[in-house]
Parts: sequence; C-alpha cells; structure tokens
Amino acid sequence: MPTTMKKQSDSKAAGNGTKTGRTLALKQYIGGQWLAGTSGKEIVSYNPANTHDMVAHFIGASQDDAKQAIEAAQKAFPAWKRTPAPQRGRILAKAAQIFRERRDELARLMTREEGKILSEAKGEMDKGTTLVDWFAGEGLRLMGTTAPSELPDNLLYTLRQPLGVVSIITPWNFPFAIPAWKISPALVAGNTVVFKPASLVPALAVKFVEILAEAGLPPGVLNLVMGAGSSVGDILVEHPAIKAVSFTGSNAVGRRVHTLAGARGIKVTCEMGGKNPAVVWEDADLNLALGGVMKGAFGSTGQRCTATSRLIVHEAVADKFLKMVTDEVRKIKIGDGLDPAIGLGPAVDEAQLKTDLDYIEAGKKDGAKLVCGGKRVQDGALARGYFIEPTVFDGVKPTHRIFQEEVFGPVLSVTRVKTYSEMLSLVNDCAFGLTCAIYTRDLNVAMKFADEAEVGMVHVNSPTIGGEAQVPFGGVKGSGVGEREMSKEGLHFFTELKTVFVDYTGARRESNIY
Ligand code: NAD
Repeated sequence: MPTTMKKQSDSKAAGNGTKTGRTLALKQYIGGQWLAGTSGKEIVSYNPANTHDMVAHFIGASQDDAKQAIEAAQKAFPAWKRTPAPQRGRILAKAAQIFRERRDELARLMTREEGKILSEAKGEMDKGTTLVDWFAGEGLRLMGTTAPSELPDNLLYTLRQPLGVVSIITPWNFPFAIPAWKISPALVAGNTVVFKPASLVPALAVKFVEILAEAGLPPGVLNLVMGAGSSVGDILVEHPAIKAVSFTGSNAVGRRVHTLAGARGIKVTCEMGGKNPAVVWEDADLNLALGGVMKGAFGSTGQRCTATSRLIVHEAVADKFLKMVTDEVRKIKIGDGLDPAIGLGPAVDEAQLKTDLDYIEAGKKDGAKLVCGGKRVQDGALARGYFIEPTVFDGVKPTHRIFQEEVFGPVLSVTRVKTYSEMLSLVNDCAFGLTCAIYTRDLNVAMKFADEAEVGMVHVNSPTIGGEAQVPFGGVKGSGVGEREMSKEGLHFFTELKTVFVDYTGARRESNIY
C-alpha cells in the first residue's frame, strides 16, 4: 500500500470520523465516547478501485478496549432492558429515517470503501433501511403467548426477554445491510451490543453507529470495536458477560466462533459461505434465466454469500445458453463503480484478488475449460485497482475445486446434466447449502426441487441472491448453524422465553400437575 498517502492523512487526522480531505480518521465507540484504539497498530482502508485513495484509518482496538466495550454494554443493560420496547423501536425508526435521508452519500462511501458499483450500494442502503424499519416495528410486537391451564383460575403466559450483552461480528461484503439485520433485532429486543465489523470497511461501520447515536441510543447500548479478528475476536466470544454471539463470515472463522461459544454454552448463530447453484432446465425461459445468472454470478463482483457460482444446465439447452452467457459477459464494463457505465467493480483487496486468480489456475489445472475471462485487468488507471475479468468455466466436474469451494469472485462454473436425478445430486453434492435457483416452466420440477434441494433458501425463476426482511435468511450444512436471520426468527434469537404460571384462586390447593 502507498505509505505516502498514509503520511498525508496522518498529518490531518482528528476527531470522530471527521473528513480530512478525502480520508476519514476513525475511532472506537465505547460507552458513548469516541476513543482511540490502544493496540498501537494502525489499520488503513483503501479504495479497491484505486489504491492511491485512502478511505479511512484508525488505531485498532486492543483486548483491553474490547473488555471496556463489554463492560460499558454491561453497565447500560439494566436501563435499556427497562426501556419499553416500543420506545426502543422508535429510536430505530428515527435511525431508519436518517439512513434514508443520507442514502446517496452513504452509498457513495460504500462504493469507495468496498468497491461494489453504486447502483448495488444504493440497493444495499435500501435493503438495510427496510430491515431497520421492520425491526423498529417489532418494538410494538415483542409478544409472548397465553395458554389454557390444566387448572381453574390459572393463567399461563410467556414473556420474551433480552439476553444481556451480545457480540455482533460482521464481514466486509455487506457493510451496511448485515450490521443492520443483526444489530436492529438485538437492540429492539433490549440487549446491549458490542459490534465488531471487518477491518476492510470501518468507515461504513462508524457511520452506522454515529447515526444510531444521533437517533437517540443511550451511551453504552451500542459499542464499536474495530480491530483484527485474530486479536479481539476471542474475547468477544469468551468474556463471561457475553450472552450470545451473532457472526457472519467465512466458514473457517465461523466454525471457530461456534466451537468457542458452544463450549461456554451460550447462544450462537453463524452465517457462513455458499457455493450456490442456478439450474437452467430444458424448458426454461432462457432470457429470464440469463438475467438471473448474470446478476447472481457477476453482481457485487461475485462477492456475495448468495452469489451464483455454479451453473447446472440441461444438455438440451447448454450450448445455446452458454453462448448467451458468454456474449453477455463480454459486454460487461469493468472499472470504478462510481462511474454509472460500469457493470463490474474490483475485488475487495489484494488477498481476494489473489484468491480469485488462484482458483482460476486451479480450474485450469483440474481440467475445466476456460470459456472466457480468467485474467487480472490492468489497463491504464485500472492497474491501481484489484480488477479481474468475469470468468466462465465449462466442463466443471464435482471433483474440481471450483465446483466445491467458495471462490467469492466473479467466476462461474458450468456443469451439464441430462436427468433430474443427476442434477439434484450435483446440487446437493456440496459442503455448503445456502441458496439455489431453478429456471423452469414445469411446476412439478420446480416444486419437487424446492422440496429436495439441501439449502436454506430456494428461488424459482429468480436469481440465487437476495432476501426480504419479513422471511428467514440463512443456510444449512457448511453455510449456517444456529437460528435464521431477519424476520421473527432473527428477533427470537436475541430473546429468552420465560413461562409464567399464575394461580389466582387465592386459596391453598393441592395440585396433581407435574
Ligand atoms: P471472515 O470470516 O474473514 O471475517 C468475518 C468477521 O470475523 C470479521 O469481522 C473478522 O474480523 C472477524 N474475525 C476474524 N477472525 C476472528 C476470530 N478468530 N474470532 C472472531 N472474529 C473473527 O469473513 P470475510 O472475509 O469478512 O467475509 C467473507 C465471508 O463471509 C464469505 O465466506 C461469505 O460467504 C461470508 N458471508 C456469509 C453471509 C451469510 O449470510 N451466509 C453473508 C455475507 C458474507
């Protein structure tokens, strides 16, 4: 990374997220105060479309900082728990209003920091804001149930109560929507939060927290700890005050978080990677399928957990459909996502770019046929970013690494099939199970597939990507463990159910109920 840029920004760095030229100098947010991290390690985020553009920098949090944040959340918990849920919801509603007002500015910052094209960043702002709104409304609906008792003059009911201090650990690829869909239910349910975002996207995380504070969140209710997961990750799971962990990220880190949290016997949900197939059946509307496969495979530069990374296509339409895909791929303009003409932004950083290129080499070595793309793009100004061609492989076999492993880049693996059972076994022959799609006009095929695919989400005649606030989101197998996110399920994860037995006879009575 260009160290000269680092010096320029340091000389001007000040305050909480204050814009210094084009670079933001950021701080941790602990107990309602913006504080410098104490790890002594500076962390810098660069624009992946132009690494001469430093977006933000901060001193990473130490374990002591993380501990302080947990203690601040612990201190704030009793009052926040007592705050009526509708009132907690109203603070979220106010935040949603501010997010809407600042949508375009925040979307531009997201494109600059994460690299996704501006229209996708605006879409993420809209999606995240809808999620905040949905959970704001849950403040009025945090209901238990009543039940008939076996005994006369008795009332049985359940209460939903908060857990206490919860850790929220998030990845870089949805820097607004994922914090929104985790933190909003945690808060409205009455928990206090320690939020650790990925170090590649600190600016968006700071904006998110600033806006919640501006909306009226009391000090200590939401704390921000930014730093290397390897140094502050464990304490956010293992500290005795942490009552639950909600994690989204890679399978390797997720499994570790799950093991540590499981050993403590606390609630944990881990949403992890995907290797999502789109099936194009012999009777599919090929134009519809084309739109969905292009969006799924190359949208967000393939850096979505729900990205379409496998195309399983019926032999009868395979040649025709593959030509349609490659013709479309060759039209994609690659570059800085702030330019509205651009269809594909950069990989998020050098490491992800290398991963993409390594998987392309693995595909070739394993014997798959490279149909288009496959190279880094370094023409002119693009040499300053982490750009890669959208890539398609044909003849990919289940034994190939690019069929089984998550690439997290714009690389589509194509496999041809002749029968439904062959197709289904390919869909399910994978360690991941997040989402999948099928394009067909045959209702029987679609419904059978929806029953039999081993995934958390099925799309019929729509791309593998996406989710909606009011329905559960998440995967099975290596893609997810724990409760689903979004919807009521996402809210319930952050609550404990208490059953209350009330006898109002007012007289002593022997009971034979056990
Ligand atoms: P990552 O696992 O490297 O990091 C995720 C978060 O965990 C970051 O905040 C990181 O700092 C933190 N972390 C790292 N080490 C830790 C440790 N030892 N203890 C606790 N926390 C630690 O993932 P990433 O590269 O940021 O994100 C990409 C991955 O996220 C992909 O695999 C993608 O599929 C997945 N993802 C899944 C979903 C979903 O809902 N299923 C959504 C988006 C992304």
